[in-house]
Amino acid sequence: MNETPPRVHAEIDLDAVRGNVRALRERAPRSELMAVVKADGYGHGAVACARAALEAGATWLGTATPQEALALRAAGITARTLCWLWTPGGPWREAVEADLDVAVSGMWALDEVRAAARAAGRTARIQLKADTGLGRNGCQPGDWADLVGAAVAAEAEGTVKVTGLWSHFACADEPGHPSIELQLAAFRDMLALAEKEGIEPEVRHIANSPATLTLPESHFDLVRTGLAVYGVSPAPELGTAQELGLRPAMTLKASVALVKRVPGGHGVSYGHHYVTPAGGSHLALVPAGYADGIPRHASGRGPVLVGGAVRTVAGRVAMDQFVIDLGPDEPTVRSGDEAVLFGPGEHGEPTAEDWAQAAGTIAYEIVTRIGARVPRVYLHG
Ligand SMILES: *Cc1c(COP(=O)(O)O)cnc(C)c1O
Repeated sequence: MNETPPRVHAEIDLDAVRGNVRALRERAPRSELMAVVKADGYGHGAVACARAALEAGATWLGTATPQEALALRAAGITARTLCWLWTPGGPWREAVEADLDVAVSGMWALDEVRAAARAAGRTARIQLKADTGLGRNGCQPGDWADLVGAAVAAEAEGTVKVTGLWSHFACADEPGHPSIELQLAAFRDMLALAEKEGIEPEVRHIANSPATLTLPESHFDLVRTGLAVYGVSPAPELGTAQELGLRPAMTLKASVALVKRVPGGHGVSYGHHYVTPAGGSHLALVPAGYADGIPRHASGRGPVLVGGAVRTVAGRVAMDQFVIDLGPDEPTVRSGDEAVLFGPGEHGEPTAEDWAQAAGTIAYEIVTRIGARVPRVYLHG
């Protein structure tokens, strides 16, 4: 950062990340903790957050794509790292040579990783993924015996070592949903089959953040926590971050670009969906828009702390900017003042969870979509 206040920036409190990891480890005391840092650490910065999580006791990192995992290695991070979203022709050899653990959901992936291991002259660490009911990635129960058999044969030839058996929940954010028990039962069956065939995994895992917070019987050897590491509640039904003992790490701030008086009846922003009340208003221009990740669906609804009060976006969120109506009185807000879109909520500012509600989406999307045009400023590095 230079001295000029940035148009908009995201402060990332790495102490909050460390505190959240410690809190989650207390929730799952007999399990290791994987910090999921996919999608650039849910918008918080993968490398900085991975380091903070490891400092606080995380022993694994997780990413969706192999490229994300290789980027952690390029930054010098050597911790055990699992990446799970592969497509044919992916960088299997680079992954094997970088000591990544790679997910295998089907026979094509096992074939590619075996070939890569042979080419590299190394044993690949693989984790077999079971589809216990999510219906997304993973191996169906009906195909599991074949995949396990092929993995056992590959272990015998020395190309792979199965380090993990794992799965993913569909509805862990809805405690009591009947699919949860069904998935756990399917997972136990699929673990039993693999172990009977001679697989000895280091880690068996199925819990994401909501399961880590609500379902101890899902913790197994490892919990894979993403959103909770960043201090955001996975779902309003589970409680706020504060109620869950978590602290949001991201604070999104903008510098008010302009304050001006307009007459009553003045349309504001594209489409004139907001019109100033009779008597006139002072408008504040906030220089952040959907190109920065501010959801356009929060037009007319998103909350912003400015001038000591929480006010609502007036009219449409545009690509680069939106407007706040400060009301008729002489404003205390001036250009250059700080507008806080969301943060931990400890100083009257809204939270990412509030923005999710305003935009009709989940808090995952609010933090993750904060764009590349927004500089991240790290606190307590
Ligand atoms: C994203 C992801 C996670 C983390 O989920 P959270 O709900 O953010 O904790 C865990 N496992 C898999 C397979 C994922 O894709």
